[in-house]
Amino acid sequence: MASISTEERVPAPVDTDLDPSAERVQAAMRSVLVELGEDPTREGLAQTPLRVDKALRFLTSGYEQDIDAVINNALFTVDYSEMVIVKDIDFYSLCEHHLLPFFGRCHVAYLPRDKVIGLSKLPRIVEVFSRRLQVQERLTNQIAETIADKLDPLGVAVVVEASHLCMRMRGVQKQNSTAMTSAMRGVFRTDARTRMEFMDLLRPGSSGAGGMRAATTFEHDDDLF
Ligand SMILES: [Zn+2]
Repeated sequence: MASISTEERVPAPVDTDLDPSAERVQAAMRSVLVELGEDPTREGLAQTPLRVDKALRFLTSGYEQDIDAVINNALFTVDYSEMVIVKDIDFYSLCEHHLLPFFGRCHVAYLPRDKVIGLSKLPRIVEVFSRRLQVQERLTNQIAETIADKLDPLGVAVVVEASHLCMRMRGVQKQNSTAMTSAMRGVFRTDARTRMEFMDLLRPGSSGAGGMRAATTFEHDDDLF
């Protein structure tokens, strides 16, 4: 056979083992496994550093995302002055103090001035900021700030309720606690009636699926571990 084989013509798939950054992360993970008393060469762990590297890069891929590219001009000028609310946006993030997941639901509302955003873009904005190393308070603020910045609405409100595995996996006292954070801008901050309307819409039984569950006050202690 004189023809060039397929393997020679097609570029080799990207091998993360050849990426110096991936190699460093994987070497570090092998060291961690050794320090934890494990044998990183045993069958079940042999590929774990590679998997952890890939998982961490995916779970922090929000750093690479450009918010304007995500919004992609899905801003529309409309004559609409009622509250827009998207409830129960699922999200998964990583607590920057322990690199353990925290996850839950995000509720976003805004009162348009003259622009609205494609509804599917709100979950995408939540995703951009949740796929980073985060604290819940900053995640909440970044979502609100972005909507305020890009839409210039009369007001924006973001409520995040989340479970933190760094709390839930230790002890029994806090297993069912949920952390709640909110960010209110514009009329949601200055006008109690607008804020109340939003909070009422989040209650179970109001229009829309899901709703808020009882939550306990939460402190994200640095000394939990
Ligand atoms: Zn934590």
